[in-house]
Amino acid sequence: MGAVISIKTDMPCPNCHEPMEWQSKSLTYDGFYLGVAQTIPLSERVDGEMHGLCDSCGKRFDVELARGKAIGVRQSEPLSLPLLSSGS
Ligand SMILES: [Zn+2]
Repeated sequence: MGAVISIKTDMPCPNCHEPMEWQSKSLTYDGFYLGVAQTIPLSERVDGEMHGLCDSCGKRFDVELARGKAIGVRQSEPLSLPLLSSGS
């Protein structure tokens, strides 16, 4: 718990479709929370939520994942930026 997980995925920015990076502190892999910061590939073993800030358009997104698929995307205000330091 609390570890920042980087997610390896080709998923682009939902707004401008530029490549961007995704991270999470609140996802599970095979149903378990990951306790060590690491990079994992986005696959059907991944559930939870990932977060990203687009360098190109400056928008921030929260993406809900179920079995590795994006089932919901929320756009957050860029100013609420404490990207991974809030929550939990
Ligand atoms: Zn963008």
